[in-house]
Amino acid sequence: EATSFYRETWADIDLDAVASNVVNMKKRIPEQVALMAVVKANGYGHGALQVARIALDNGAEWLAVALFDEALALRKQGVNAPILVLSPIPAQHAGLAAKYHISLTVSDPEWVRQAREADDSGEPVLLHLSCDTGMGRIGIRSKEEAAALVQEIGLDRRFVIEGMFTHFATADQDDEAYFDEQYAQFEKMVDWIHDLGVKPTVIHCGNSAATLKYPAEKRHLFTMVRYGIAMYGLSPSPEMVKHLPFELEKVMSVHSRLTYVKKVEAGSFIGYGATYQAKTDEWIGTVPVGYADGWLRGFHDTEVLIDGQRCQIVGRICMDQFMCRLPQPYPVGTEVTLIGKDGNEEITADERAEQLQTINYEITCTVHPRIPRIYW
Ligand code: PLP
Repeated sequence: EATSFYRETWADIDLDAVASNVVNMKKRIPEQVALMAVVKANGYGHGALQVARIALDNGAEWLAVALFDEALALRKQGVNAPILVLSPIPAQHAGLAAKYHISLTVSDPEWVRQAREADDSGEPVLLHLSCDTGMGRIGIRSKEEAAALVQEIGLDRRFVIEGMFTHFATADQDDEAYFDEQYAQFEKMVDWIHDLGVKPTVIHCGNSAATLKYPAEKRHLFTMVRYGIAMYGLSPSPEMVKHLPFELEKVMSVHSRLTYVKKVEAGSFIGYGATYQAKTDEWIGTVPVGYADGWLRGFHDTEVLIDGQRCQIVGRICMDQFMCRLPQPYPVGTEVTLIGKDGNEEITADERAEQLQTINYEITCTVHPRIPRIYW
């Protein structure tokens, strides 16, 4: 059976939570503004196809991915909704993208020239102009660049400017000055493009943070928002928590089971490097998850949940296993929660992010594919 597996470690993916996060966002934005579900990187680790389907069923109209391969995979799995590839792809694939009605990001006239030569699909090549308003990653920056790009695209009627967009670097931060600058610059760039006689049907700038923080009355959301991290139930940053206009429902939790339980004598060492020494006689459990699962060594000395209690990880995390101290002997097979709730206790992706001094995005994205996802 395709969904069966034998290891006792898994990630639960709550698709009802995705649905709720999408429905709540749809309610927040004006009716004429479309919602694009960002499902790049396998849906931030949650499963691109499953998240895409539930998001589309609950009001999302568009999908976004980072890679052309991610877009093709969705098409080949039967997803017909419009899909935008947010990063530049090699120009030689423009024809294949056109064949599959996959929209591409463009910021370089030279790319357009090469794509024109490569494309023999006979289908429209759907393009979104990428505008760099301060992210410094991809996109046109000046009026001259805008004109050159639009002119190059205009040389071939198969090439259609379907959209234009920008990406905010600081929308999740308390200080709004840089956001305001980027926003004002984007408004200007929309005018430049309109002045060149081009009217893109989709104009988009808001990521989760911008859309959650700024009400539509304060910030024109143009015609579409790109909904990523908050669709997965996570706040774009700790600062953003106080701005959340509705409760986000967390989607992913990660669990395993004890594979071995033993009592060690005071003075015993645990793990590589013998870095942990039991102070008293202690119960030690082994959990079959390691850094090869994305359960990085940086999680040493943090806690997991067993029987509704926090239990400390002891010794170094191995490639496929780690050990933890138990308050009492639990049977082999007892559930261990690495991310999620157990009883009244919860360890969130945000807590994990803090432990690794990173962001919650990195936590869910790096749950390795060898951990099976179970969809509810
Ligand atoms: N738009 C672009 C261009 C992105 O790169 C991303 C994510 O990195 C998003 C939208 C979604 O952002 P968020 O997950 O913060 O909502």
